[in-house]
Amino acid sequence: MRSVRLWVSLGILLLANIVVSNLLFAAAQPTTVTLPYDVFKEQVAQGNVTSVTTTGDSITGVTKTPVKETSTGVSATHFTTQRPSFADDSLEPLLEQHGVTINAKPENPPPPFWETLLFSFGPTLLIVLGVLYIFRRIGSAGGTGGLLGSFGQSRARLYNPETPGTTFADVAGIDEVKQELEELVDFLRDPQKYERLGGMVPKGVLLIGPPGTGKTLLARAVAGEAKVPFFSQSASEFVEAIVGVGASRVRDLFMKARQSAPAIIFIDELDAIGRSRSAGLRIGGNDEQEQTLNQILTEMDGFEPGKGVIVLAATNRADVLDQALLRPGRFDRRVTLQPPDRRGRAAILKIHSAKVPLAPDVDLDEIAGATPGLVGADLRNLVNEAALGAARKGETTVTSADFFEAIDRILLGTERHLVLSPGDRERIAYHESGHALLGLLVPGADPVRKVTIIPHGGALGVTVSNPIADRVNYGEDYLRARIVGALGGRAAEQLVYTTVSTGAANDLQQVTQIAHEMVVRWGMSPKIGPLAFAEDGAGSGFGLARPYSEATARDVDTEVKRIADECYADALRLLTEHRTQLDNLARAVLKDDSLDEDQILAAAGIPRPPASPTSDSGAPLEGAGAR
Ligand code: ADP
Ligand code: ZN
Repeated sequence: MRSVRLWVSLGILLLANIVVSNLLFAAAQPTTVTLPYDVFKEQVAQGNVTSVTTTGDSITGVTKTPVKETSTGVSATHFTTQRPSFADDSLEPLLEQHGVTINAKPENPPPPFWETLLFSFGPTLLIVLGVLYIFRRIGSAGGTGGLLGSFGQSRARLYNPETPGTTFADVAGIDEVKQELEELVDFLRDPQKYERLGGMVPKGVLLIGPPGTGKTLLARAVAGEAKVPFFSQSASEFVEAIVGVGASRVRDLFMKARQSAPAIIFIDELDAIGRSRSAGLRIGGNDEQEQTLNQILTEMDGFEPGKGVIVLAATNRADVLDQALLRPGRFDRRVTLQPPDRRGRAAILKIHSAKVPLAPDVDLDEIAGATPGLVGADLRNLVNEAALGAARKGETTVTSADFFEAIDRILLGTERHLVLSPGDRERIAYHESGHALLGLLVPGADPVRKVTIIPHGGALGVTVSNPIADRVNYGEDYLRARIVGALGGRAAEQLVYTTVSTGAANDLQQVTQIAHEMVVRWGMSPKIGPLAFAEDGAGSGFGLARPYSEATARDVDTEVKRIADECYADALRLLTEHRTQLDNLARAVLKDDSLDEDQILAAAGIPRPPASPTSDSGAPLEGAGAR
């Protein structure tokens, strides 16, 4: 690619040259005044004009003494004027009579030299550059010998391995997974030992997990621990514009890795090329993916076990992968990474805050408790945000408050500036207070951590409730508590204003979803019975074919409605009974815009519940109650 860059630089130089010379030219121009034609003739008659140059009907010239331009007051010895086309031709004798030198220029001067050059050679140059570029691309992709080969010198740079300094100590919160990978490290350190013992070493390991859970980090740690070269490539980079490139890049990559065995090849985003070939429509360009995928399979099949090359690949969707990839001798070992649990989060926070000066009030465990659902990459980002916030405030250490502000920024999106009428604000305050109060009153509900009527993202107000423990199994009580809490916003509005607003749209969506799942998925409706109609992962019964009869469908609808109605009645009843607390809470929210857990409890006059055990295991983020 070097020569392309050279040409580009040359082009830029040329352009710069033109611009600069034009500027210089302009700068060298003397001050010039524009004279009316009659003033010009007057000046000639007075013998003040020494020379003129005409281009068509426009005249420029030089005077002995400066002439003043009436409109601007500027005086200069250089002037221009425009001769009216109807002017009688007594000008020439007049000029001769006063001894003025007369020059003339053609009306359409030939374009400057560089312009001619650009227009005649420019297109050709572009084409040549384009062709050169394409050749280089093919060359760097591993074209073999011949014409293209001569363009391929740069391809060695493409797969330069690194030996990462990353170790398992940089990875936290996924201990079981680490253990599985330790075996790989052992093997890479001494492939022969394994062979002698007849151990089965995997050729390929698939790392499965949501983005940011540390798949890349782990792969690097394996290489770092084993001190072997790490060849990393994203699958989407294999497949680029030119057909045939993907497969040859794969070939190249594996060849390089074999040459430096023991080594690790890491293929990120494997699903970009490894999607099931039967799944869905394949539209143009996928031949390329298929070829690339086939080449990977061929390379893996061709490995001799014990040669010391292990392929690690990452994906966040194992379910869409082509079965061929998962066959024995390929990615037959799978390691699943889950979002970290509370202890894991604390450990990850510890790693990433190691180089950050923490204030004594920072309790990483508490922060971990407030961030269910966040993955390693989010937590790293959180530490960073907190440190930036501290820096902005000019603090020398990062405080607990900095962390919680960063959490709010990350969880709630950035604050939106929106002017609300006092009436709207009050309604929103009651709405959110309804959510929050029910979260406190209903047994089994998640504790409420924050209420705010500062608009965030798309929501006018937010009530954040945090599960004490990230839950993996939901009891019916809990689900009903969730529904009651979600309906609390609307119930409060109904109670206070006797009318409702559109503000509950999101809440109602949640309610519908939970109630529906209770009926069709979790067998929590006596009328439907302990049956599950919803296929896992395939949505819940909506869609093309319902796996149940019309009559059952009607029953499902009435059951969903019954659950929602009952919960709404509960919500209304509870809020009516605790109307004073609701009013107090709403007033406090209105006053302070947002309340944290202690302020909520104080405003509602509810004692802090005893701390519950805080074991947990990764569950989705509960940002419940956004309206
Ligand atoms: P993935 O490949 O799964 O999308 P990455 O490995 O790229 O995720 O993670 C991005 C960054 O997040 C890592 O470089 C690391 O700083 C941080 N990170 C993610 N998971 C962990 C973890 N378990 N322990 C420590 N840091 C982590
Ligand atoms: Zn709401």
